[in-house]
Amino acid sequence: MTEKILEIENLTVSFDGFKALKQLNFSLDTGELRVIIGPNGAGKTTFLDIITGKVQPTEGRVLFKGRNTKRIPEHSIARMGVGRKFQTPRVYLNLTVRENLDLVCNSNKNVFSTLLGRPSVSENKNVASLLETIGLYAKADLKAALLSHGEKQRLEIGMLVAQSPELLLVDEPVAGLTDEETENVGNLLLALAEHHSIIVIEHDMEFVRQIARRVTVLHQGSVLCEGNMDEVQNDPRVIEVYLGHQDEL
Ligand code: ADP
Ligand code: MG
Repeated sequence: MTEKILEIENLTVSFDGFKALKQLNFSLDTGELRVIIGPNGAGKTTFLDIITGKVQPTEGRVLFKGRNTKRIPEHSIARMGVGRKFQTPRVYLNLTVRENLDLVCNSNKNVFSTLLGRPSVSENKNVASLLETIGLYAKADLKAALLSHGEKQRLEIGMLVAQSPELLLVDEPVAGLTDEETENVGNLLLALAEHHSIIVIEHDMEFVRQIARRVTVLHQGSVLCEGNMDEVQNDPRVIEVYLGHQDEL
């Protein structure tokens, strides 16, 4: 049996009686890249909020690496290995690209080694290989403020990866990006998928097609269907849900 990094069982989340998620079941294999799509209000962001511990289940449970995350605080769940990339980049604009990465690469060390010590060879190597991975090696000494929106997104993904999460949660990473930047972010996520489990939430169907292996469609707080891109696109239930939004599919 394949090992599951994430299992969600019969999950219901009520906000003042309104069920944003309804008896949702979901599981993710270790090392899998999954894309989640669904109309606005389907519950996609709430789904991520549940995994990170920002929102608590009303019913049901979430198992991360087999462990029930109930009442575990957000920062502890992050330390267990769940990293989240929010929609808007949160990088330090007046620091260089390299300094942004240095900050996170050193954040787990003790204060003295960060303040007094020069970065060790292995830390420099980590930063260098991250710069390579996110395709910003040539821009390492530029202030982040000078990066394009897509480059900022890639830098933030790099900062997230620097914290060595096992599960990466990425919410709409290509909203507002040019076609070229969209493709770059897609290639970055595909490269990261070789060593991480990843959940990507996305609207942009072109992008979903670029990266998707298995797709989960959320609708009104439940899983409507799951499958590869072709199966999902040809599923009559999906077509019905998106009827009137054909441009989205
Ligand atoms: P999506 O990300 O798929 O657009 P959301 O998870 O943001 O959907 O929201 C799902 C539903 O839950 C929406 O109808 C939204 O209005 C509602 N909702 C989300 N968060 C809250 C909250 N904190 N309080 C009340 N209702 C909420
Ligand atoms: Mg959302």
